Amino acid sequence: KMKAAEKLMKVFVTRRIPQEGMKLLSAAAECEVSMWDSDEPVPRAELLKGVQKANGLLCLLSDKIDAEVLDAAGPNLKIISTMSVGFDHLALQEIKKRGIRVGYTPDVLTDATAELTVALLLATARRLPEGVEEVKNGGWSSWKPLWLCGYGLSGSTVGVIGLGRIGLAIAKRLMPFGVQRLLYSGRSAKSEAAEVNGEYVPVDTLLSESDFIVVSCSLTPETQGLCNKAFFSKMKNTAVFINTSRGAVVNQEDLYDALSTGQIAAAGLDVTTPEPLPTDHPLLTLKNCVVLPHIGSATYSTRSVMSALSVRNLLCGLQGTEMPNELTL
Ligand code: NDP
Repeated sequence: KMKAAEKLMKVFVTRRIPQEGMKLLSAAAECEVSMWDSDEPVPRAELLKGVQKANGLLCLLSDKIDAEVLDAAGPNLKIISTMSVGFDHLALQEIKKRGIRVGYTPDVLTDATAELTVALLLATARRLPEGVEEVKNGGWSSWKPLWLCGYGLSGSTVGVIGLGRIGLAIAKRLMPFGVQRLLYSGRSAKSEAAEVNGEYVPVDTLLSESDFIVVSCSLTPETQGLCNKAFFSKMKNTAVFINTSRGAVVNQEDLYDALSTGQIAAAGLDVTTPEPLPTDHPLLTLKNCVVLPHIGSATYSTRSVMSALSVRNLLCGLQGTEMPNELTL
């Protein structure tokens, strides 16, 4: 007979997660779950306390999981499951060293994030937030030939930096708008680029030839600060820059300069450093900069599926079985 008390696995969940995930977690009889039961991030001290003796940790991208957290957890920690596809918040070397497995949520958020990226690109290029504001503040006096003009996709060249799952999904959605050339850069050419007639080019070529530049790479030491002064100086003055990857890929001071001097036409960001971006940040004073609060994957169904997948990953990690989506360390 199983001695229930001995078998209980301690799990710490760093946030209130959608119902689908909660249901799966509650049904897992082998788990003793403690949760930071809030919609706000867990304070660091509570995280360090909460993980103590945990066998499993379910976290979000806003939780920095570093050596301090792993030490606080102690040697029982087997599995870290993050409800995100990005894993730049996880100290992977430290995690690997300790033999801890990692689960994440690729694919299930690809469509939602690609869709949001297209929405942000169109909103930025066609100046939707400015237009909405003018309607409300009385700036709309009449139809004027050059008022609120922007840039269209038809006949354009689009450059995607990081043609991964999301990058490809973005490209597929943009092509039907009449895009003429689809360029992409990254560490290697991709066979699936053929689906969008993608041309693998050096990043400098992508910068000088693209009318729209979309950043959808992962944040790594190599891509940190990739979009800096030198990067923006190679772009066309009429080009639109979109980032839905991670804020730290962009040097925001350099982006501010590029936008305010007319070096580039406009920028749309779903991700910033820090998050939230302080309301007095210089970027928010610019009309040609559209900033969204990191809502790439924010559809009800996507977040539900993400929560369920992250719980499944967690439970498999606890049981030592194959996970639906394990990150190779
Ligand atoms: P993938 O791993 O499929 O794609 C990442 C891409 O980044 C790969 O194609 C990779 O290309 C590329 N890349 C890596 N290093 C470099 C480099 N040095 N230069 C250029 N490209 C590089 O991940 P996903 O498409 O699923 O997700 C991508 C990122 O999007 C996530 O890491 C996350 O940060 C972000 N994201 C943001 C969301 C939001 O809400 N805004 C939602 C979901 C994800 P290669 O294989 O050639 O190295």
